[in-house]
Amino acid sequence: MFKIIPHSKPTLDKEDFQSVLNVLKSGEIAQGKKVLEFEKRLARYLNVKGAVAVSSGTSALHLSLLALGIKEKDEVILPSYVCLAVLNAVNYILAKPRLVDINEEDFNISFKETKKSLTKETKAIIVPHMFGLPVDLAPFKRLGIPIIEDCAQAIGATYQGKKVGSFGDLNVVSFYATKLLTTGEGGMVFSNNLKLLDKVRDLRDYDKKNSYRLRFNYKMSDIQAALGLGQLAKLDRFIIMRKKIAEIYNSAFKDCNFKLPQPTRDRDHIYFHYCIRIEKDVNKILRLLRRKGVICERPVYLPLHRYLHLEGYPVAEKVWKLTISLPIYPSLRPEEIRKIVETLKSVC
Ligand SMILES: *Cc1c(COP(=O)(O)O)cnc(C)c1O
Repeated sequence: MFKIIPHSKPTLDKEDFQSVLNVLKSGEIAQGKKVLEFEKRLARYLNVKGAVAVSSGTSALHLSLLALGIKEKDEVILPSYVCLAVLNAVNYILAKPRLVDINEEDFNISFKETKKSLTKETKAIIVPHMFGLPVDLAPFKRLGIPIIEDCAQAIGATYQGKKVGSFGDLNVVSFYATKLLTTGEGGMVFSNNLKLLDKVRDLRDYDKKNSYRLRFNYKMSDIQAALGLGQLAKLDRFIIMRKKIAEIYNSAFKDCNFKLPQPTRDRDHIYFHYCIRIEKDVNKILRLLRRKGVICERPVYLPLHRYLHLEGYPVAEKVWKLTISLPIYPSLRPEEIRKIVETLKSVC
């Protein structure tokens, strides 16, 4: 039988189904006890003082920018090679997005380019840890500008022995269906700064407030949180499985003409994506793979500077043109991994 191997897939089990069902049966299905528990558990997992669950990674970014007091016309730095969600959050508050180029080696935001883009108006830097590999955060921290770590692709990874998400002023994660752990849709903001988190919590919902200001309905439901709790308990195991698959790929492709993910000191790659650079026509390779039932993707659909019709960004351009992302998720079976390796070798 011809079976298609999807590029990404959530890892769900009976326990997950049961915990969701239990919440449904309890009758308390909106934001409640489960959400509180999920916030506490994730904060403990990351070793930070607190967390606020929200409806998505995008809303987590939006509320973080608001809580930091970023206003219209303030400048916010972000990399060009990242998903549109990050740009949207900056535009929600009418701040000015300043896109910067990335590093060729790790696909992360370039510190050198960031430094060049600083102005008096720079009020925050959004630092996404791309594809599971933490950003080298130390130089960014020294700039003295508020940092938002975007951990949507790296929750559970460590930098200098500590979990990412504990370095920035306010840090976010997404629990979208295909992320490292999922609640279907969802997100969270976490921090060691409880005052900032209080602001995020206040902005998250609109009901029972004593004075008016613009607030949102960005709540997570207990149905989602129940799923998230089960997923969080399995996250370390998920990460081990991702690393194992990455090792298999590394050795299978070592003699191929691909640029493979590079090991780094102090930074723990957890392989949200397994990206390789092929010196080939990426569109054609993706099409051939698809025809044979192996779905690979560009890890970033389109870099942000292309949407905004901006010139420059040579590294993001080059990386975008030549990089593909292979299926990698805990539920990937050995025979599927074998098929991916063989198929890729046969078309490259
Ligand atoms: C997925 C993702 C987001 C957006 O999260 P949503 O939950 O889809 O809103 C933001 N930043 C990065 C780096 C992501 O990968």
